[in-house]
Amino acid sequence: MKRTPEEKQQLRKQKQEERMRRHVVTCPHCGKDVLDHMTECPFCKGELTPVGYKPVDERLIKKIRLICFLVGAAVFIGVVVYVLLKG
Ligand SMILES: [Zn+2]
Repeated sequence: MKRTPEEKQQLRKQKQEERMRRHVVTCPHCGKDVLDHMTECPFCKGELTPVGYKPVDERLIKKIRLICFLVGAAVFIGVVVYVLLKG
């Protein structure tokens, strides 16, 4: 079954909407739909508490970078040792 470009677009739109809906919360001040990462309601300018929003964790990034470096170094050493043993 082949999908027409219009159908594909429709499907993509649906998926986008689904993704959006997951991030939609109700404003406690005016009851309108707002996104969960917003700190201020775009409708009533009321203050919102962002749900699940965290500023990028510097320490976590550093940790991930260190792990990547260690894994890379380990692979490199492994390759060097392998080449040396073979040759
Ligand atoms: Zn509001």
